[in-house]
Amino acid sequence: MHVIHVIRKPLSGGTLAENISAWGCGALHINGARIPTRDREAGQVSNRWPPNLILQHQPDCRGVDPLGNEWECAPQCPAADMDEQSGVRKSGAMDSYVPGGQYSTYGRMMARRTCNSSNEGTASRFFLQIWKP
Ligand SMILES: [Zn+2]
Repeated sequence: MHVIHVIRKPLSGGTLAENISAWGCGALHINGARIPTRDREAGQVSNRWPPNLILQHQPDCRGVDPLGNEWECAPQCPAADMDEQSGVRKSGAMDSYVPGGQYSTYGRMMARRTCNSSNEGTASRFFLQIWKP
């Protein structure tokens, strides 16, 4: 297991943008790190929020595609261990709209709509998986 810390320099008194300009870092490209879902395979735009955990398969794990079809994990594979613990679960569909205007740590929230269809599978589907060790 490898632990990777993602940290940011403390804000130096200005805005977040000023802090990023001063230090050359401090923001995450959330859309670039989203986890593709089966909905995406069907042509729908639906990606999960980036997780804080990456699962790396064992060198002896074998499969056909990265979404688990015809995949067989070797003993001691962290993804297989997680899936054994979770079992197959069904998630509910979500179709929500938040009009915006609320304030959070990051300022005034914009209006946003979230649509996810329901699906089922094991817990490892929520995390980025590295398939070729
Ligand atoms: Zn595996």
